[in-house]
Amino acid sequence: MTEKNWKPRTRLIHHGARRSQYGEVSEALFLTQGFVYDSAEAAEARFVEQGDDEFIYARYGNPTTRMFEDRMAEIEGCEDAFATASGMAAVSGALMAILQAGDHLVSSRALFGSCSYVVSEVLPKFGVETTMVDGMDLDAWKSAIRPDTKAVFLESISNPTLEVIDLKAVCDLAHAVGAIVVVDNAMCTPVFSYAKEAGADLIIYSTTKHVDGQGRCLGGIIAGDRDLIRGPIEMYVKHTGGAISPFNAWLQLKSLETLDLRVRQQAATALTLCDALEGHRALNFVRYPTHKAHPQYDLAISQAEAGGTVITIDLKGGKDAAFKFLNALDVFTISNNFADAKSIATHPCTTTHKNVPVEKRAEVGLTDGLVRLSMGLEDPEDILADVLGALDAI
Ligand SMILES: *Cc1c(COP(=O)(O)O)cnc(C)c1O
Repeated sequence: MTEKNWKPRTRLIHHGARRSQYGEVSEALFLTQGFVYDSAEAAEARFVEQGDDEFIYARYGNPTTRMFEDRMAEIEGCEDAFATASGMAAVSGALMAILQAGDHLVSSRALFGSCSYVVSEVLPKFGVETTMVDGMDLDAWKSAIRPDTKAVFLESISNPTLEVIDLKAVCDLAHAVGAIVVVDNAMCTPVFSYAKEAGADLIIYSTTKHVDGQGRCLGGIIAGDRDLIRGPIEMYVKHTGGAISPFNAWLQLKSLETLDLRVRQQAATALTLCDALEGHRALNFVRYPTHKAHPQYDLAISQAEAGGTVITIDLKGGKDAAFKFLNALDVFTISNNFADAKSIATHPCTTTHKNVPVEKRAEVGLTDGLVRLSMGLEDPEDILADVLGALDAI
């Protein structure tokens, strides 16, 4: 069987492996900054042109990192990928690499806090004009995208409000004016993503999230066509210092072997929990993109196999009820991360989204009663009992 016929789960385990002369089974960790040349002439030659298996310096590339990049590109259906120190190194690196002073960027408004900072504070400082729109409103995209728009940025599923953006429609609008579409796909997961099929040009993951999946180390990836990845993206990231540590790349490469199993289990738990919570007397709503009760269910299911591993609930009693609920949880830990093997509960308004101005919160659906629940890998029955029990306690 040739690799091109392999199913995605098989590729997640084998694709891109590079064996050393020792023939190791498990991918090796090359914890090295530099590389040795056989002669002065060989060193000179390497700086003229690098072969596929030739490296210069770990900030530019490393065999372990390259295995991680190749495997991530493969599962996303992209030609190539560049790994970064964190999800934010990927987001800021991609945008800084493709934009310059005088350019125009259109971005959705419901963004992860640090993404929002980059779009609304960092880019304008360097002369990039940015327009932010309600991502769910196609007419708003239509009127914001201009003939001179250079790039479009969005989160396919927003964190934490779980708004879904019509990827194909926005890509078509952007491509009509020749703009590059950059998608932060962190909430969706690489396993469920159809972002490439929808037309996204650069697909970004905080691999800190589902790829690591066990709450250990930071990482990020930018995937896309080779001319972009090995062109402006690589140039910018390798020279500005955003490279991933080979150790983190190794850990996350090995984590890809279990990614599919983990996120499918977590997505199934999310659906079970939504079914159990729908119509609960203490809640205004329960939300998960590919659960029937989500207002954008049809769109969500058309552009991702499942809606990620996070659900949100909106408690009728606002912040008081949310805090009582959080404090009554046992299986869930209170933290600000998500996509861990451990179930995690977050109150965004007082933590991750504390810096969103109060008057802007309503615009993006950030209410005081909103709690984000990240499904872990504990027994789904324990997760369900924990949430129902904590709701009874308020
Ligand atoms: C977590 C997250 C990021 C940032 O990732 P880091 O690895 O923490 O830098 C960016 N975008 C989204 C949507 C995220 O959830």
